[in-house]
Amino acid sequence: MDCLFCKIVEGTIPSRKVYEDDRVVAFHDIQPQAPVHMLVIPKKHIASMNDAADDDAQLLGYCLLVAKKIAKEAGLEEKGYRIVNNCGPDSGQIVFHIHLHVLGGEKLAPLGNTH
Ligand code: 5GP
Ligand code: ZN
Repeated sequence: MDCLFCKIVEGTIPSRKVYEDDRVVAFHDIQPQAPVHMLVIPKKHIASMNDAADDDAQLLGYCLLVAKKIAKEAGLEEKGYRIVNNCGPDSGQIVFHIHLHVLGGEKLAPLGNTH
């Protein structure tokens, strides 16, 4: 399977990792949209939220907790941050391996300004 983020999991494409364990990898986004912009991905290939199964509930919940952990380590705990998942064409999803964006380090535009 030709998946960019599976290659980041395998290490065949380099990334600036901030966290890794047996289930999850987190790394800096290559084109940051905020002073801090990191991605959290499960090592398991799930294309998007549309493909998440009931059995993935624990893994996806764990991704959220890893997002919290790396946000804290990046110094974002006090001032806050945003966790985003894009699903499908209307959202602008470009990499079809499910991921959470963790954005912060400045006052982010309100969600209402995103259209
Ligand atoms: P999406 O639009 O699918 O939710 O977000 C995909 C994200 O992956 C984008 O923010 C994009 O900048 C990031 N990205 C794309 N290719 C690479 C890459 O090779 N390395 C890293 N670290 N991030 C990437
Ligand atoms: Zn993948």
